[in-house]
Amino acid sequence: MVSFDGAASRRMLARLRDVMAGSGSGQERLDKIVTLIRAEMRADVCSCYVMRAGEVLELFATEGLNKTAVHNTRLRVGEGIVGDIAAHARAIALDNAPSHPSFAYRPETGEDPFLSLAGVPILRGGKVRGVLVIQHKERHRYTEEVVEVLQTIAMVVAELVAAGELVNPQEVAATGDPVLLPTRLSGAALNPGLAMGLAVIHRPQLTIRQMVAEDAGTELERLNQALASMHDAIDKLLAATALAGLGEPRDILETYRMFAEDRGWLSRIREAIRKGLTAEGAVQQVQDDTRARMSHMTDPYIREKLLDFEDLTNRLLQHLSGRGQDGAGALPEDTILVARSMGPAELLDYDRHRLRAVILEDGSPSSHVSIVARALNIPVVQATEALSRIEPLDPLIVDGDHGAVYVRPAEDIQMTFSESVALRAMKEQVYAETRGLPSVTRDGVPISIVLNCGLLFDLAHLHASGSEGIGLYRTEIPFMVRSSYPDVQAQTELYARILDEAADKPVVFRTLDVGGDKVLPYISAGAEEENPALGWRAIRIGLDHPSLLRQQLRALLRAAAGRPLSVMFPMIAEVAELDAARRLLELELTRLRAHGVEEPSRLRVGVMLEVPSLLWQLPALLPRVDFVSVGSNDLGQYIFASDRGNPRTAHRYDPLSPAMLTLLKRLVEACGEARVPLSICGEMAGKPLDAMALIGLGFRTLSMSPPSVGPVKTMLRSLDVAALRQYMDGLYQRGDHSVRIKLRAFAQDHGVVI
Ligand code: PEP
Ligand code: MG
Repeated sequence: MVSFDGAASRRMLARLRDVMAGSGSGQERLDKIVTLIRAEMRADVCSCYVMRAGEVLELFATEGLNKTAVHNTRLRVGEGIVGDIAAHARAIALDNAPSHPSFAYRPETGEDPFLSLAGVPILRGGKVRGVLVIQHKERHRYTEEVVEVLQTIAMVVAELVAAGELVNPQEVAATGDPVLLPTRLSGAALNPGLAMGLAVIHRPQLTIRQMVAEDAGTELERLNQALASMHDAIDKLLAATALAGLGEPRDILETYRMFAEDRGWLSRIREAIRKGLTAEGAVQQVQDDTRARMSHMTDPYIREKLLDFEDLTNRLLQHLSGRGQDGAGALPEDTILVARSMGPAELLDYDRHRLRAVILEDGSPSSHVSIVARALNIPVVQATEALSRIEPLDPLIVDGDHGAVYVRPAEDIQMTFSESVALRAMKEQVYAETRGLPSVTRDGVPISIVLNCGLLFDLAHLHASGSEGIGLYRTEIPFMVRSSYPDVQAQTELYARILDEAADKPVVFRTLDVGGDKVLPYISAGAEEENPALGWRAIRIGLDHPSLLRQQLRALLRAAAGRPLSVMFPMIAEVAELDAARRLLELELTRLRAHGVEEPSRLRVGVMLEVPSLLWQLPALLPRVDFVSVGSNDLGQYIFASDRGNPRTAHRYDPLSPAMLTLLKRLVEACGEARVPLSICGEMAGKPLDAMALIGLGFRTLSMSPPSVGPVKTMLRSLDVAALRQYMDGLYQRGDHSVRIKLRAFAQDHGVVI
């Protein structure tokens, strides 16, 4: 049995270094490497497969198999044991390989006499670039140490593969580089908007020139210095964000600092250095390893944590290279960042005034970086092959509305997009001009426009947009970007900041609405739910965990201290739930008084109308509440039994359908009779045509995201409500799927700006 101690591993790495640094083509060096590994590991075979286009693994070098198989034997990812290693990015060690279910025999290699096999993926930049294999004739049990040594060697080989020097000689003659032709990448829209600019590759893969160290002591010292300088830089960033009043990014950075001190992470890096790698090599190896282990996990918390560690790894590598925070100064005027993944703090490293869009290979709408990008109003698209298709400074067009990226776009596409961008800018200008104008319809009906917010950033829009207040503050967003539950003190400070910034404008705080697609890393839903939208979410969690809801209510009451406070409970399905939530609020009020803390000057309690059952309890509900707000996003999905998160069903039914409009009209009437203020805060309220219909139904308060204020205000100022009401009377009884076309025709005929 081969065994490897630290000294043996260091000796082999030193020899590898000599080969890597020596003369010869990439192929010649790879040939020397497999020969060296076979000898050092006393194996009968050492082979290296390299990943080619189309997910094919090609045998590039071997010592022990038939040489004629080199460049001829090819395996698909997933085919045979080698393909299996690549498919799962995971090492395999087998003492009896032919008995493995994935074993695929390739006669041209002459591998039939070999019984045992150990193979590891060659990883680089989170991708499998090849597979390194050793084989033995006799039955052989591979120790964990041997597999680890192979993994370390694979990192060195990865450098050779990534350098692009390895080519199949039969294909050298191939001409034309398809990579440089105009391309359209389609992906997922993570944040809407349109942008043109030049590609800046975020933290381009640093070429780690030296993987193998001369002396472990020196490397450990270099690591310590880089860690110190990285901590220092994060602290400076923290101080700067505190000065700029950026609340959530600051929380995120604090999480970073915590991760940067993660003992497990640091000790794995130090261990890799002791085994013979340079500090850079060790940091990279630990990251590749973590990524390979975690990449198949779908748990959003783990994926988020992985992104945080990627960010840290990149930062640490920058500090090891002596470059610290770089790049920001040299950005083109219109920068489009392209990244495999990115932490939210990394996004904040860039000059916000030059950033036009972000393209991520790995990201989701709820990832931290998307949340921060949304607050900065930057379009974000997730496109799987971005890094392999985009070169630095390539002209790009990012369509965040449709999830598309145009790489090196042809002139006609550039022209079309320039026109769209210019048109948008012109419209923005028109909207900006309505800012100071009264929000009143053409026939004199005042409409109150309020905002949907969730980040401190958003509050800047409150005063700039000319809106009257915040109709929906989604308190869960600050919770989602933290790694642990914020305590009462932290929540009190946050809510007080929001009230301070809103000054005399009213704010409606919605209590935690998590569950469904909004996952909090630190609240486990236990078993996975089959129907999360119908599952354990929002007020249901709050009532099952009263201490959680009570802490939030306590913080809200304290933050208000002498000021008015409006609290809204989400997803209420029955009056009894509202009563239960109110009881918790009463308990907190009593506690507040007992502690002699100042009470809010006025306390208003409302519900979100999102669950249809509540519509049949209005006589009992309305006397109990100070206001009602329609959450049309959820109400729509429950009324039509049509998942809002499923692309197949999300747009199947139209909110401008006779069913939805009739239901909303009855609600307007019931609230009017009971004199309970009614508003609407779902997406409908922010779309000009839908908002027009809502005003026609009798809604007088619309709550929307900040970019919708201009278009909706422009619409309503051109609207004659009396004429619309009369027109809509003929729509409720119809049997159509939707009356959208009819409403649009009304708008056109009556000069309503949609
Ligand atoms: C809604 O359901 O309409 C709503 C505003 O809440 P959210 O989109 O946060 O679920
Ligand atoms: Mg909702």
